[in-house]
This record gives sequence, C-alpha cells and structure tokens, in this order.
Amino acid sequence: MLVTLHELLAKAKKESYAIPATNVDNEHNVRAAIAAAEEMNSPLILNVIPNANPDIEFFGRIICDLARRSTQKIAVNLDHGKTFEECMKGIRAGFTSIMIDRSLCQFDENVEEVKEMVKIAHSLGVSVEAELGHVGSGDNYGVDGSTGITQVEEAKRFVELTNVDALAVAVGTAHGVYTGEPNIRFELLHELRDALPIPLVLHGGSGTGDENLKRCAHEGINKINLSNDLKRAAIENLTKEDLSGNAVYQLYPLLAQGFKNKVIHYIKLFGCAGK
Ligand SMILES: [Zn+2]
Repeated sequence: MLVTLHELLAKAKKESYAIPATNVDNEHNVRAAIAAAEEMNSPLILNVIPNANPDIEFFGRIICDLARRSTQKIAVNLDHGKTFEECMKGIRAGFTSIMIDRSLCQFDENVEEVKEMVKIAHSLGVSVEAELGHVGSGDNYGVDGSTGITQVEEAKRFVELTNVDALAVAVGTAHGVYTGEPNIRFELLHELRDALPIPLVLHGGSGTGDENLKRCAHEGINKINLSNDLKRAAIENLTKEDLSGNAVYQLYPLLAQGFKNKVIHYIKLFGCAGK
C-alpha cells in the first residue's frame, strides 16, 4: 500500500531501524524492490530522481500504482527535487513524499524555500524531506567528505523553522563512488539524533560499507538512500551468466534478480525485516 514517508519513518525512529530508499528508474527495478520488501515483510521507500526520468509524471504514476498494489507499506519519494516545478510534478503524479534539495543555498534561503514546500505539500497530505549541510560527491571525497558537515544548533533551528518531516544530514557520506575511505562522524550523528525530534536521512549509502551502514541504521538514521550498490549488483548478476551459445537471454529478469537480492541484503542489515 502507498503511505507517506512521515508514517514510515515515525515508526522507524521509535524502534531504531532504517528503511532502504532504493533509487529506481524503470519498471523492472521498481518491481524488484517491491518483491524484496514483500519477501522480507518490510517497509520500503522508492526514490525517484527527476533528471534520470524525463517524464517524471508518467513514470511516477506507474510507480505509485505498483506501490499501491503491494501488501507492504511503501512510500514513493521524489529524490533531490531541484526546482519548484519538479516538486509540483511529483505531487501531481501522486508521490507521497518530496525531497526539496536546497542544501547549496544559504541557510535563510534554504529555510524559506523548504517552508513554502512544506506548506503546500502538507496541505495535500504529502511529506517533505530537506537537506542541511551538504552531502557532496564521492569522486571529490577528499574535499567534500569534510566540508558541508551538518551543524547541530543550525539543524535544530532549521527543523523548528520549517516543520519538515525528515532531514538529510551530512555526517561523512558522499554520493556515487568514494575516492578513499568513508569517514562517518558517529558522535555527530548521536548528537543530531538526540537534538532533533524528526527522523534523519543518510544520502550516499552505496560504498559506505556494511559495518558503517548497520551502525547508522541503529544509531540514529531512519532512511538510507541507495543507488550505485543496487545497480552494480544487478549488472553483476547479469554478467555472471553464461552468455555463450545462442540461448534466449532473459536480460531484465537477470538484472532484477541481482537488484532484488541486494535490497534484501540491506533490509536485513538495517533491521527493518518484519517491520
Ligand atoms: Zn542524495
């Protein structure tokens, strides 16, 4: 069934586990992620990035429809809504959550834009995720890994001023592939968890490592975004097939199987199986 991010994360925060937010970009990986959640009796978040899906409204409606038919509780989240228009299209397509990313703006501008989005989204029963501090890029980890780290006092003020449902924090992860070892600030994560009344989100889960992610999921993070790791698992499952001879290759089921297995791995790791 299709539910809001707010509903899913409120329970996750109360019971100290995280839900995988799987980045999906076609019907096959949407179905694979949902199948994983159903097999594990787990909640799930489907993350959709606007720029990877030019017709976000059309694709969004398909995803929401598939989520609605599932036996499990699923939130569909517009990931990194960069413009007001993108966010509005997400809401019109039926997304139950919108991430409005103004993390590169000054604090006041970030607050103003998020506040506006919260007002609109909440009036329609849609949740909002924002980002404070800035989660950078793994290929620039030497710099991005230590700049833009979220400040506790600022985060407290941000949450009070915006009334946002969930906050993405920068505690040392990065998007894409890391150059160097990820350095997660667990002490800062604990401080943020204890200081903020809302669930926290970790972007850049891929490549962060199982040990780090498991700790994050049990020590304050309630939503972990995953993209590269899932796509890589899908491709690895395809390439390990014996492609000699002239069999009729089942390309998409092979990709979907690899994707699904990796989602199951993370559902177990994050403690949300059976939830
Ligand atoms: Zn992100």
